[in-house]
Amino acid sequence: MKNVVGVDIGNSTTEASAATIGSDAAVRFLGAALAPTTGVKGTPRNVDGVAEVVDRALRAAGVAIADLDTVLLNEATPVISGMAMETITETIITESTMIGHDPRTPGGRGLGVGTTVPYASLDDPAALSAQHPAEPVIVVVPKGVDFEVAAAAINTATRRGIVVAAAILGNDDAVLVVNRLDTTIPVIDEVSRIDAVPLGMLAAVEVAGPGQSIRTLSNAYGLATIFELDAAATKVVSPVARALTGNRSAVVVRTPAGDVADRTIPAGSLELHGESRSASVDVSRGAVEIMAAVERVSPLADVNGESGTNTGGMIANVRQSMADLSDHAVTDVHIKDLLAVDTFVPQEVRGGVAGEVALENAVALAAMVRTRESGMQAVATAVTERLRAAGADRVEVVVGGVEAEMAVLGALTTPGTDKPLVVLDLGGGSTDAAVIAADDSIDAVHLAGAGDLVTKLIDAELGLDNLELAEDIKRFPLGKAESFFHVRLENGTVQFFEKPLPATAFARVVTLDGAGMNPIPGRHSMERIRMVRRTAKERIFVVNALRALRAVAPGGDLRQIGFVVLLGGCALDFEIPDQIADALAPYGIVCGTGNVRGTEGPRNAVASGLVAAYAAKVASGGV
Ligand code: ADP
Ligand code: MG
Repeated sequence: MKNVVGVDIGNSTTEASAATIGSDAAVRFLGAALAPTTGVKGTPRNVDGVAEVVDRALRAAGVAIADLDTVLLNEATPVISGMAMETITETIITESTMIGHDPRTPGGRGLGVGTTVPYASLDDPAALSAQHPAEPVIVVVPKGVDFEVAAAAINTATRRGIVVAAAILGNDDAVLVVNRLDTTIPVIDEVSRIDAVPLGMLAAVEVAGPGQSIRTLSNAYGLATIFELDAAATKVVSPVARALTGNRSAVVVRTPAGDVADRTIPAGSLELHGESRSASVDVSRGAVEIMAAVERVSPLADVNGESGTNTGGMIANVRQSMADLSDHAVTDVHIKDLLAVDTFVPQEVRGGVAGEVALENAVALAAMVRTRESGMQAVATAVTERLRAAGADRVEVVVGGVEAEMAVLGALTTPGTDKPLVVLDLGGGSTDAAVIAADDSIDAVHLAGAGDLVTKLIDAELGLDNLELAEDIKRFPLGKAESFFHVRLENGTVQFFEKPLPATAFARVVTLDGAGMNPIPGRHSMERIRMVRRTAKERIFVVNALRALRAVAPGGDLRQIGFVVLLGGCALDFEIPDQIADALAPYGIVCGTGNVRGTEGPRNAVASGLVAAYAAKVASGGV
């Protein structure tokens, strides 16, 4: 009888499966463990993670380390992945035109159109009426003016016959001002550079009722009506309208030379070199065209970006970081797969006066690089030394078993599966597919883009700048703390708590990880966060699942595939497996999350496969 542990070192996770192999070569699995991978996969720093999972798997199995005979390491696929993101449009405001400011707490409601006048002129009705006889005005109130004073000044002016149509405040007290006014007007506050708001110009302020969004300023023809624009001018301001869509409040000032431009940054092109064909595609054409070009020239041999452009810089960065990781010269790094994803990122508008933010188009790229060799032998030597030192006196460490083949062997232990079968391993950096045909032949592909890119998209699209929180948003459903004792979950149901919720969570959208709740900063609604989360998953995993299956299916025909088994960390996700299954249903494919050995779920396939393959070798007298 032999005590063995199969170990799978992944980019993110190291998994182990402990078993005994009897004299009749029968395998009994006894315990499993997993831990984060230490260091870059395939390098000696992996030894810490390996030692930890071996130790824990043996404990779970009730086997003493001194009785350990063999550790089986996979011949890790020498691929690593990298990613980059670049915005390809920018909104620029010239001459301090203010657009789109949407403070947290605007006051009043309605649409006010008038000429912007300084607060001080309210006290000087002569000057005001000389300048703008009987015309409505929009008062611009600088920071530091007390809300009671400002409200009283507006009321006095109104009584004198001045039509105050709206107000723009530097302070954050629109609601306090509105509560003290005789008439309801729309009021915008928190304009940080209030002194930069142009005066004597026609402007419009719109505030929608609670729970509603503005209707006029977010409509290009609404703007045209207010500012009497002709067709050409309407075309110019249409980006303004688009930028304001969905806001509860907005202000637009029309200045004679001022302009809001929606500029496409010359993003540059990608040169895709296939093994037999090449293509060049402009990145600003978007992900669909880029991916069509990738598919046309596949298999990819390498990718370059146009030098001197954002795309050039992006590809150079990916190449450099992967060269550093894998200890290769930059010239030895060849990009073998590329996934492009369209995304939107909130960016502060250049030239804005109140920290206005516009959603800019961006493209995210994930790239896959094949490294020279896996370096597993060096890892094996390091693991042997470490385990011997820990008391495993007679352990030998064996490298063997191609990752894809082992994954298939492990996946086939899922109840209800049969050949031909495709394994989709949804990992952190890559989506790996392996197919086993009825005649047992195995084929595999490694595609760029997986769980880490989903996290990165969520982080960028919500403007979080916090990958840990983005990871939480990816993994857990949302809720909204509606009172101190209950949370409304995203599916509409309510969860009650006996102890009061933390004050930081109150009235916020939170992630619910089962243990606690993490409030999500910013003003995103639950619906929007949910949409960002779900579309990020779809744009990566549904796209990659289809790409992978087209690559491994006989003749590229998805109908030839009977079973798809999902494995890897992202197969544990609460919605990715359903999204993939929905996309594959039209092809008559049975698709589900793996349950390795009927107990391990989508985890441990490679580790279990290593043990099974070793036992088969023992049985055939190969060991
Ligand atoms: P690898 O094989 O590359 O080491 P894994 O199979 O461990 O990678 O997958 C890592 C990915 O799985 C990460 O993107 C991580 O966010 C995701 N992941 C891990 N656990 C879960 C979970 N419980 N729910 C959703 N995603 C998960
Ligand atoms: Mg893996």
